[in-house]
Amino acid sequence: MIPDFAAIVGPGNVLSGTDMAPYLEEQRGLYQGSALAVVRPGSTKEVAAVVRACAQAGIAMVPQGGNTGLCGGGVPDGRAVVISTERLNRIREIDSVNFTLTAEAGCVLSTLQAAAEDLDCLFPLALAAEGSCRIGGNISTNAGGVAVLRYGNTRDLVLGLEVVLPDGQVWNGLRPLRKDNTGYDLKHLFVGAEGTLGIVTACVLKLFPRPREMATAMVALPDPAAALSILAAARAASGDAVTACELIPRIGVDLCVRHVAGARDPFDAPHPWVMLIELSSSRPGGLGEALESVLADALERGQALDAVIAESGEQRKALWRIREGVPEAQKKEGGSIKHDVAVATSRVPEMLERCTAAVEAALPGVRVVAFGHLGDGNIHFNLSQPVNADKQTFLEAWKAMNRIVHDIVADMGGSVSAEHGIGMLKIEEMARYKSPVELDLMRRIKTAIDPQGLMNPGKVLP
Ligand SMILES: Cc1cc2nc3c(=O)[nH]c(=O)nc-3n(C[C@H](O)[C@H](O)[C@H](O)COP(=O)(O)OP(=O)(O)OC[C@H]3O[C@@H](n4cnc5c(N)ncnc54)[C@H](O)[C@@H]3O)c2cc1C
Repeated sequence: MIPDFAAIVGPGNVLSGTDMAPYLEEQRGLYQGSALAVVRPGSTKEVAAVVRACAQAGIAMVPQGGNTGLCGGGVPDGRAVVISTERLNRIREIDSVNFTLTAEAGCVLSTLQAAAEDLDCLFPLALAAEGSCRIGGNISTNAGGVAVLRYGNTRDLVLGLEVVLPDGQVWNGLRPLRKDNTGYDLKHLFVGAEGTLGIVTACVLKLFPRPREMATAMVALPDPAAALSILAAARAASGDAVTACELIPRIGVDLCVRHVAGARDPFDAPHPWVMLIELSSSRPGGLGEALESVLADALERGQALDAVIAESGEQRKALWRIREGVPEAQKKEGGSIKHDVAVATSRVPEMLERCTAAVEAALPGVRVVAFGHLGDGNIHFNLSQPVNADKQTFLEAWKAMNRIVHDIVADMGGSVSAEHGIGMLKIEEMARYKSPVELDLMRRIKTAIDPQGLMNPGKVLP
């Protein structure tokens, strides 16, 4: 029997029927979920009571934040209750001396960025979904984004967590400490667990001094190897102030210009690749000059074919529009098969070459749109359908293309899921590439924390 959730969270916070629709649809349309109910607790105490009631009734639970995940991790299978964190939206404390922010899991990422800025600080996690994803979701997927090169993944930004465990107990690990070697560091089990070990209800996050100077450039390149040389030179010349380093292929720029409102190619010639490089520092002065000098040198050596440095906030936004518009443009171009892979940064050019040759040989006409976080070695190796191809027929090649790309990436010691997680989408892939020892350890951790297997079943683990 379904527990009386309304008695815990109030009748307005238990949704059923068509009211559940936004919680059941997933971003890419790959999965359509259904649920027993959607429950929206407003406090940690309410989350704990809802989880306890589910555990006692043997009902599965699917934690959900902003529902922007790209692997189906937040999609319920009909026998589960969705527990949405959207009402857990309070900032509990900001300590600008300790450089920490304590927030509830349902806070929208952009709200936390703004709260940090109000205190002249920076919370550096930044991704295109920041206006709707929630910090508990970011933590549970160990989100990456565009500033990993400088500040690390979400895991590196979390100092403490509060988690409701699958039996309803609350683990209060909300410690704002930068040093704490008292046994196993439990918070790291929950970061990136995609809701399979418990529900994150609050967190302590690291803040940083707010940047006072920023220098952003788009650079036209002959090939990706040139981008790596420019990145290394910019890191050295700027006191390691490079915050973002993104790579975009010719086709990515072209699709953006074609499909994304306001997107404009800043160059006159159709260069094979472009990179977006951004430096930032809390100490004003000198960054622009450092970047200019690195680019002048790169132009002289033929590593850069052309370069544009943003001279205003508007120009900076216009350059970012080209990078951030690529997924939207690809969507409008028909079917796309996605890969979120990482290799050692130094090996990205080799990976691009090998994967491109292999998929083009297997599927003539396929259009490789490989873009993304070059500075982290993380490339979204996406494939757009051949021009005029049938979308459905193309998408039927999803698994075959995955196999080709992932086998090459694994052969290079890389990862088949760099930042988006496993969810339902990549369970088989993860099982194929992880060692039996690793898989066994993961299963034993899951069983120890969630012996009934009620927390987000069917996700992550094979
Ligand atoms: C346009 C766009 C751009 C994106 N760019 C990036 C990017 O650059 N880098 C990147 O890493 N990702 C990116 N993503 C993916 C997505 O935004 C991130 O994975 C984000 O961190 C998910 O947050 P969410 O609140 O939407 O989580 P949801 O989608 O709601 O949930 C994701 C997973 O976390 C679990 N979960 C959610 N909240 C909790 C909680 N409180 N406790 C326990 N488990 C929980 C869910 O069960 C699910 O398994 C992008 C997505 C979009 C749509």
